[in-house]
Amino acid sequence: MGDVIDQKVFKLKRGKYCPHTQSSVDRYQRIVECVKCGALLDPFDVVLDLAQEEDRYTTSIQRLRKENERLDKDIQELKRQERNAKARLRRLRTKEGKSSDA
Ligand SMILES: [Zn+2]
Repeated sequence: MGDVIDQKVFKLKRGKYCPHTQSSVDRYQRIVECVKCGALLDPFDVVLDLAQEEDRYTTSIQRLRKENERLDKDIQELKRQERNAKARLRRLRTKEGKSSDA
């Protein structure tokens, strides 16, 4: 049994035998394991991965908010142009109506 643990510790120290991303926490043994291959993972590395993932999400959210603001402005501009075009059309139709009356 000790050998198995040593092997897992070896995996942990080398850190390159587990390519998987899903981990589970065993709160009683106070260890973090790979869900797929059972490799014992360095809890610090797992926390670091999670923090970096959160950073990526935060950056992505900021980028999406800016994109959303830009699209909102585009929509407002398109609505303004549509209102102008409709008003121009109404004016043209009233002019046509008046000229045909005369
Ligand atoms: Zn794994």
